[in-house]
Amino acid sequence: MRRSRIPIDNNQAERGLRGVVVGRKNHDGSRSRRGTEVAVLPRSRTTSCTDRFCATAYTARSDGIRRYHDLEDDMTEWAVELKDVKKVYRTGPIEVPALRGISLRVAPGEFLAIAGPSGSGKTTLLNIIGGLDRAESGEVLVEGKNLQLLSSGDLARLRLQRLGFVFQAYNLLPVLTALENAEFTLLLQGVHVEQRKERVQKLFSEIGLAGLEHRRPGELSGGQQQRVAVARAMVTGPALILADEPTANLDSVTATALLEVMEQLNRAHGTTFVYATHDPQVMERARRLISLRDGQIVSDVALADAAP
Ligand code: ADP
Ligand code: MG
Repeated sequence: MRRSRIPIDNNQAERGLRGVVVGRKNHDGSRSRRGTEVAVLPRSRTTSCTDRFCATAYTARSDGIRRYHDLEDDMTEWAVELKDVKKVYRTGPIEVPALRGISLRVAPGEFLAIAGPSGSGKTTLLNIIGGLDRAESGEVLVEGKNLQLLSSGDLARLRLQRLGFVFQAYNLLPVLTALENAEFTLLLQGVHVEQRKERVQKLFSEIGLAGLEHRRPGELSGGQQQRVAVARAMVTGPALILADEPTANLDSVTATALLEVMEQLNRAHGTTFVYATHDPQVMERARRLISLRDGQIVSDVALADAAP
């Protein structure tokens, strides 16, 4: 993926700015459809195009000022894009609408929390983004790939190669050591044993687990187990980590340390992190906070400018 950097001034970098492509040039030089929507990203100060091969775009502000950008080189893809996603659970005659029309775009490298009370649809949303569950209607795109259109084999490959999952209850295999748990996805990918060990050990020292490789989950604290789970999610070098209530079983000091580790991984590797959480600590650390109520987005705010 190539991404062009287009300098725009600070007051344009506020979130939520939208524009449309006024001219579009394909790589073969032909021009095509106008009107593709683009977003001005808050932190990277980059204008990003939802379609490949956009040419010129302007951002239209509510005050009517239009600024033109040259997007000829821009090939940015959203890490995640949801369009009017709906999900209803049916148990017998009872229907529970879990998601009622979620539209959302996540740029590569975001550190984003989806918050909301229990039952608001956080887990359902994360599972649908991660291809663990299917949307009833709407579109779900991960790195530009429409999940509904993938075969189950392609979906499994996408999950294995591009996504990492972290769960509230760590979900480590109790009979395996920390190292064996963390290397598991590499094993599935057919990575050679020496390379597996090397990658896990490098990651372990990066996240403060060095020396604990041969302990089993039962011999580790909750915080250490969750770090192993984070290592397992990160070890394949995924584009996107989906973490469902990762701090819910941890005390606040341990939770803070874990969040620092994930923040550091986000910055060092550019990995996108999406949390489902109702932990205020996660919400405070997130750089964007989306609030869900009854399966709908009620707010979406940028919390802070991230360091480049
Ligand atoms: P959260 O993670 O925010 O607590 P969930 O996504 O788990 O919310 O649940 C959203 C709604 O969908 C809730 O009303 C919940 O009871 C319902 N729900 C979740 N999973 C199922 C399921 N497998 N079968 C039926 N209803 C479900
Ligand atoms: Mg949940």
